[in-house]
Amino acid sequence: MRTDPARLRFETDAKDGAARTGRLFTSHGEIETPAFIPLATRGTIRGLSAEDVAGLGYQLVLGNTFHLFLAPGEERIAELGGLHRFMGWDGAIITDSGGFQVFSLAHGAVADEIKGRRARQGSQGSILDIAEEGVRFRSYVDGAERFMGPEDSMRVQAALGSDLALAFDECTPYHAERDYTARSTERTHRWLHRCVDWHAREAPPTQALFGIVQGGTYADLREESAQRVSATEVDGLAIGGTLGRDKPEMYGVLDLTLPHLPREAPKHLLGIGEPDDLVEGIARGLDLFDCAVPTRLARHATALAPRPDGRYRFDLRRTSFAADEGPLVEGCPCEACERHTRAYIHYLCRQEELTAVRLLALHNLTYLERLVRGAREAIRAGSLSDYRERLLGGAAPWAV
Ligand SMILES: [Zn+2]
Repeated sequence: MRTDPARLRFETDAKDGAARTGRLFTSHGEIETPAFIPLATRGTIRGLSAEDVAGLGYQLVLGNTFHLFLAPGEERIAELGGLHRFMGWDGAIITDSGGFQVFSLAHGAVADEIKGRRARQGSQGSILDIAEEGVRFRSYVDGAERFMGPEDSMRVQAALGSDLALAFDECTPYHAERDYTARSTERTHRWLHRCVDWHAREAPPTQALFGIVQGGTYADLREESAQRVSATEVDGLAIGGTLGRDKPEMYGVLDLTLPHLPREAPKHLLGIGEPDDLVEGIARGLDLFDCAVPTRLARHATALAPRPDGRYRFDLRRTSFAADEGPLVEGCPCEACERHTRAYIHYLCRQEELTAVRLLALHNLTYLERLVRGAREAIRAGSLSDYRERLLGGAAPWAV
């Protein structure tokens, strides 16, 4: 790994077992870790303004290279002053590499099954060719043939001006066989070297680069990938690809990957962030998490809640909420819970009012922000295992 404070500085302080608190220093401010990262896929966190998101305590959001490349295009965003200015966000931005989306076109639900993504529709475009050079695909925007390889992903992320860029990789699905996973992981390593070369020469001097560890669910492939990626000139590490078919398998893949990563490196678990995953990942020493769950659930009339038996969520459309005068979740400090009843939000959801999406996004993002904040406090107090037990036992993050 490289050390270049102009790109990124990471300082850890309190430790509790493998877990730690820390600070990432970027040119758009500091990020307290462990942190959850909301998705601003198309340059917006759906239903919320940049000011709303900052007001919830978030310091880092994730922009999507693939979607912004297709529309409005990275050149337009660069002409307009870069992604921060374009979306009016003063905090830090991480951009994914586009690899996940490009390969979703090929693998159907690359969607590693544990992330619960649904199979891609035809409207998402289609893959034309995967080669050493990169991937040719058909755009879902206008049907045009487009190409993305490692250098293109780096170039797009440089033009967007994100603080943290991710290397271009293939996100291998759970259903891929060992042979395919091994060959794909090798190619991801070759692509990483091309990303590192391009980034060292051409990227903005304040942009950091994270390498992505692949290897599917295979212990030896994960170990090799962890060592290969850690040996390159990157500023941080991410864990990608399938993590298995269920949560115990996911935690197992983390347990066999993390020991092979340098302890001092900032570590990002890609695409994972349900309440139980956050606390389990934090306990294992991960620092960053991004996930579509809070914002996607908001669009599907669903609130996060301390309900371990109900996947930490409930659907507001159920008729039992029609006259319910309680808040979404008792004690939640968000605007939706402080000001409104379940009955009102149930009604807005049934009417498909945009306000329902907004209120649920505020609630769900508050829930996860409080959860990681509580974890940071617990690590400082040396009581993370107690915090974890109580959350997994059904306590709300602000009640622990
Ligand atoms: Zn709330």
